[in-house]
Amino acid sequence: MRLVILGPPGAGKGTQTSRLASDLGIAHIATGDIFRTMRHQDSPLADRLRSYMDRGELVPDDLTNEIVAHRLEQPDAEKGFLLDGYPRNIDQAKVLDDELEAEGRPIEKAVRLMITGSEIIARLSGRLVCPVDGAVYHLQSNPPRVPGICDLDGTPLVQRPDDTEEAVMRRLEVYGKQTKPLYEWYAARGILDEVDAIGTPDEVYQRLAKVVGLYRNGAGGAA
Ligand code: ADP
Ligand code: AMP
Repeated sequence: MRLVILGPPGAGKGTQTSRLASDLGIAHIATGDIFRTMRHQDSPLADRLRSYMDRGELVPDDLTNEIVAHRLEQPDAEKGFLLDGYPRNIDQAKVLDDELEAEGRPIEKAVRLMITGSEIIARLSGRLVCPVDGAVYHLQSNPPRVPGICDLDGTPLVQRPDDTEEAVMRRLEVYGKQTKPLYEWYAARGILDEVDAIGTPDEVYQRLAKVVGLYRNGAGGAA
């Protein structure tokens, strides 16, 4: 399956998509994760990435498109892929469509995670991440077993540099102007599904899994 997961910042894309891609047996491609790895390098490019990301701005399309195109050529993406955080605007969607259509493997489904504005703020203001393995937690809704420490590798958790009030406001503005038009784009192609992203992470996962056909043979329910 070739899938795009869309939604505002904080909708739960990262929380849901590693598990979903793994259960579907397809590659998980998250541009935010790719950029978070690249930004730690000691290079002028990393300086530029930090500057865009920490201000809540999009990384320029040329660079983003090139990185995704390269990633999609990797062998693990042959059996299908889930794109998380990409495309982020219509220009990126056009480049992606052209590329995939030329290769005879177009996007088959786009899923929109639906969430309210107040829930976005609650989620982003309590988000904690592991700077080493990228695991995502929340102070209230998904706390680590030991406060402030990653369950998986024991690393002290941090707030994302772009979860400051100022950067969140800018990201929501960018989302409203640039990313929201993508819902129309995929709806016009008849491949958009909407999923209610309010509820526990497991409840949301069950809805998502159903929409992408994971439980088609009546195997539903198992988390
Ligand atoms: P995105 O990747 O869409 O920006 P994340 O997956 O990082 O979103 O989730 C944002 C924050 O919300 C994280 O702190 C995460 O633990 C929390 N979260 C994710 N899904 C839920 C949910 N269903 N209910 C409550 N909190 C959630
Ligand atoms: P995310 O983890 O999806 O919230 O992305 C974090 C940040 O990475 C964004 O605010 C952007 O600065 C950058 N980013 C991620 N995906 C893209 C994209 N498709 N296009 C441009 N910038 C992106």
